[in-house]
Amino acid sequence: MEQIGKQTKVVILTGAGISAESGIKTFRDNDGLWENHRIEDVATPQAWQRNPSLVWQFYQARRRQLTEVKPNPAHDALNELEQYLGDNFLLITQNVDDLHRRAGSSNIIHMHGELALLRCENCHEIFAMMEEHHLTDDYVECPNCDYDRLRPHIVWFHEVPLRLEEIYQAVEECDVFITIGTSGHVYPAAGLIDVAKSNGARCIGVNLEPPLNIDMHDEFYQGKAGEILPELVKKVVS
Ligand code: NAD
Repeated sequence: MEQIGKQTKVVILTGAGISAESGIKTFRDNDGLWENHRIEDVATPQAWQRNPSLVWQFYQARRRQLTEVKPNPAHDALNELEQYLGDNFLLITQNVDDLHRRAGSSNIIHMHGELALLRCENCHEIFAMMEEHHLTDDYVECPNCDYDRLRPHIVWFHEVPLRLEEIYQAVEECDVFITIGTSGHVYPAAGLIDVAKSNGARCIGVNLEPPLNIDMHDEFYQGKAGEILPELVKKVVS
C-alpha cells in the first residue's frame, strides 16, 4: 500500500463484505443463502420467469433496506482515496447497494447492477425509482411504455455483468489492484485479480476471512474493512 502515490493507477474491487458493517448481509457468511433465500430462487432470470412475485418482493425488501442503512468507515476511506488519486482511481463494485455513491465516490462501475434502478424489459429504459410509492410490494409500471412490470436492474446469475470491456481495460492498465470484502467465488469478478497480476499490478486484499484466491494477493490484511481500510488509506494520503 505504501507504494501508492498520486500517479499510481489504482483499481478497487469491492464485494458484499464492505457493506457488512453497515448492516447489509453478505451471503457467504450465511451458508450461501441471501437473506434466507437460495440464490436460484431469487437471483436468476429463471426465478423471475417462474415466480416473479417472490423475486419482486425479495428485491423490494432489499430496496427498502437501503433507506435504513448508511455508509461505514470503509466506504468513507475509499472516497478519501478517490479524492487523493482523482482520475487514477476506479472503483468496481459487485454490490448492488448504493453505499459507495452515498459515501461520495463517483468513479464507480456497478458491474452487477443497482438496487436503486429498475429496468423495462419491453422498451429497455432504466429508471431511478426510490420514492416511497416505488418501494411497496406492488409491481411498478413503466412510465415510458406502460408495460406493467419493471424488473430490478440487477445482473442475475447466468446474466452478463455490465461494462465488462471498460473493466478489463482498467484492470489491465492498473498499477495496484485491491480486493475488499469479496470471497472470490463469483466469476468473472473473482478472475479480475488474475488479469491484474498477469499485467504486473501489485495485488492487495482486505477481507474478514482468507478469500478463495488469496494466493494471488501480494499483500493481504485479514479483518474488518471498516477498521483496516481507514488506517491503510491514512498512510497513503498523509
Ligand atoms: P460474498 O458474500 O461471497 O463474500 C463476502 C466476503 O466478505 C466474505 O469472504 C466475508 O468473509 C467477507 N466479509 C464479511 N464481513 C466483512 C467485513 N466487515 N470486512 C471485510 N470483509 C468482510 O460476497 P461477494 O464476493 O461480493 O459475492 C456475492 C455476490 O452477492 C455479489 O455478486 C453481490 O452482487 C451480491 N450481494 C451484494 C450485496 C450488497 O450489495 N451489499 C449483499 C449480498 C450479496
